[in-house]
Amino acid sequence: MSHSNPKLAIHGGNPVRQTLLPYGRQSIDEEDIAAVVEVLRSDWLTTGPKVGEFEQKITALTGASHAVAVSNGTAALHAAIYALDIKPGDEVIVTPMTFAASANCVLYQGGTPVFVDVEPDTLLIDPTKIEAKITAKTKAVIAVDYAGHPCDYDALSAIAERYQLALVADACHAIGGSYHGRPVGSLATLSTFSFHPVKHITTGEGGLVTTSDPELAQRMRVFRNHGITTDHRQRAQSGGFFYEMVDLGYNYRITDFQCALGISQLNKLGASIAKRQQIARTYDDAFRPLEYVNLLSVRPDIIHAYHLYMVQFDLQKLNMSRAEIFAALRAENIGVNVHYIPVHLHPYYRQQMGTAPGICPVAEAAYERLITLPIFPQMTDDDTHDVIRAVQKLAR
Ligand SMILES: *Cc1c(COP(=O)(O)O)cnc(C)c1O
Repeated sequence: MSHSNPKLAIHGGNPVRQTLLPYGRQSIDEEDIAAVVEVLRSDWLTTGPKVGEFEQKITALTGASHAVAVSNGTAALHAAIYALDIKPGDEVIVTPMTFAASANCVLYQGGTPVFVDVEPDTLLIDPTKIEAKITAKTKAVIAVDYAGHPCDYDALSAIAERYQLALVADACHAIGGSYHGRPVGSLATLSTFSFHPVKHITTGEGGLVTTSDPELAQRMRVFRNHGITTDHRQRAQSGGFFYEMVDLGYNYRITDFQCALGISQLNKLGASIAKRQQIARTYDDAFRPLEYVNLLSVRPDIIHAYHLYMVQFDLQKLNMSRAEIFAALRAENIGVNVHYIPVHLHPYYRQQMGTAPGICPVAEAAYERLITLPIFPQMTDDDTHDVIRAVQKLAR
């Protein structure tokens, strides 16, 4: 080789950087800290005024009429499936290319997740493959805005309407994104969000569901509070003690200091997505010429929120396995990850639901070649270029 690359760190060369660059990281500033401290000094640590204020800010951002904040993104998915009255015997269509919680929520209510494969170039649920999986038992579709790219909601809504199905958007990756000019959070019957530290905005742990259906919103408010129709603050205001438990709910409440953090974080969402998009553009430009890297497609007329940035490596052209690529990039101190192991391949699903390799061949093939590269707002230009240099070093 005339113009040989520096030796990979895994083969004894120098790593492109000395400290590990994580794949994602929260951004917390002094304003965030002050907002939390203010609530800690107030009368309401939980179920106080900050919860409604946070919900109000999310309705303004998403254009949905109602927002119900809960303790985490998984609780948000559970509340959504509960609100839709999914029961044993009901089927819900889900994508395999997601975090397990997107399908687990169906199991919590005794329903059956039915996996539908993804599009090969976006890895979003493939609307053309949904109808073949619809039966008399199908009640809903859960779409996941994988990586932050909104799904094809025109196609999904048309199918939902034709078959009278509810449409749930697991938008945990996509807050701040949009589809054909309409904001994420207003594209489905119910949309769920997570505020875990790796997501765009964080409350430590936290989640939320948006909807424009007042009845679904009310069901979720009762569900997050043990199935009780009034909350502690409402009773404090009315001076009474009486409450009724009308259904079996959970304690899925979020605290006021978490919501204060969420409100403060939301002020920075626009800037943080702009930074993520800038990093993604820099990666796209650097990787497009590399014949061993395949970028994911981005559809026209959408705003991609870039929670994650993945590429698919051409294993033949590199003559390396994904495990070798992963180890090589980690040795360069690039904190790569893999999103996701297809849900139907997890042992629990294989054993309890009888799923097996072969039911979603596109997702399974993509998984073998997928790597998630670091992307988060506080990455410097040097960090971005370290990632690019490490990927370039893989060529031999
Ligand atoms: C993070 C995430 C969840 C779960 O959210 P938690 O807040 O961690 O419970 C669900 N679905 C997707 C797609 C996610 O990325």
